[in-house]
Amino acid sequence: MDLRHADLFDISPISILCEDWSGVKRAVDEVIAGGVTDFDRFLDGNPQFFFDVRRFHRILDANRSALDLLGFEDKETFLRESRVRLPANPASNVQVFRAMVRGDAVCQGERVLHTRDGRTVPILWRASLPPGPAGPEAYGRLYFFAVDVTELKRVQGALMEAQANLSHAGRLSLVGELAASLTHEVSQPLASIAGHAAAATRWLAREIPNLDEVATSLNRITAGTQHAVRVVAKMRSFARRGELSATPMKPHDCIADAVTLVEHEAHRQKTRIAIDVPAHLPPVIGDRTQIQQVIVNIAYNAIQAMQAARSPERRIAIAAAADGADAVTFTVTDSGPGIPDEVLPRIFDPFFSTKQEGMGLGLSICKTIVEEHGGRLWAANGRDGAPGGASLSFSLPVAGSLPVAGPVQPATL
Ligand code: ADP
Repeated sequence: MDLRHADLFDISPISILCEDWSGVKRAVDEVIAGGVTDFDRFLDGNPQFFFDVRRFHRILDANRSALDLLGFEDKETFLRESRVRLPANPASNVQVFRAMVRGDAVCQGERVLHTRDGRTVPILWRASLPPGPAGPEAYGRLYFFAVDVTELKRVQGALMEAQANLSHAGRLSLVGELAASLTHEVSQPLASIAGHAAAATRWLAREIPNLDEVATSLNRITAGTQHAVRVVAKMRSFARRGELSATPMKPHDCIADAVTLVEHEAHRQKTRIAIDVPAHLPPVIGDRTQIQQVIVNIAYNAIQAMQAARSPERRIAIAAAADGADAVTFTVTDSGPGIPDEVLPRIFDPFFSTKQEGMGLGLSICKTIVEEHGGRLWAANGRDGAPGGASLSFSLPVAGSLPVAGPVQPATL
């Protein structure tokens, strides 16, 4: 079959819009000629630019598939209503502006369309641009290709939901395993509160009540209560199935948060935990609870390994260090038996465990969490090449450096 360009445009199953961006390119060129060197900064300071240049932009043509996507019967109505139906979308426009300024041959992005018949359709779009430096006329007929990603988003959503449920189940199981020591963390201050309350009553019951002693007891009661409340609050927020969020966090805070949950178990197993984080590390980005979960899981594995091996000296060092400008690496090293060579390649496999009661899910959940954050999790033995216990490391992107993948991705559409 001999197909001409025009036929291909019309019968293509991919939605295509032909658009005139020559006037916009002229406006962008004028801004650059006016001495602007950092166009992104210019856009940040001049948000009205998106709307000012809108009047220079025109949609020239749309193929059948694009009309169907947008809910239009005929092309004429669409071309008449296109401005209303496809309002300026700064997130998408900025991609085109950047490509124009840099002379990129392609640009792409995501956006949501609100169709004439009331549907909301997420799309992926891509356009070819004149490569290299080109005058405004070269932007007179740009072709934009769009793919409906509704189904992809639905599957991604279901996957994210399943992964969030799995990591929540992992946290509940960790809380279950740590329950004995965490209960002690609460019952100990409660016992001391009861003791101080009894003492205060005795001081009051004396013929001449000793109010100073009563005040001391009451202060101790307050401190004990606050400690118990803090432990319960930490445990509750760790066990909760909250909304995932991408928050900038100081590496030291991530570690300290996690240590509060394992320190009592560590103490019970005669294990010392040392934290080593240099000052001025940049904040990392991620879901606070999930990152805490990764560190708790790894540290708890270390406590268990040293206990099982009856290691004479039990130490855990949790460190964070910059990995270039865009990432921070967290490393948890223990002084236990290490991971046998034949076991090492399998520890991240789901359901792999060398423990009698082990589920074998902890590290595989940690790996999923870290990778969804755009990072990496790996294991080795010894520290800096020296023989020694296990050393598990993971990297996380620095806030503002990388687009974060997976469930913690901020809404881009
Ligand atoms: P589980 O704790 O249920 O066994 P994980 O996925 O957390 O599941 O761990 C998988 C396996 O990795 C453990 O069974 C153990 O063999 C090994 N492992 C993990 N951390 C250490 C460690 N610090 N030292 C030695 N072996 C470890």
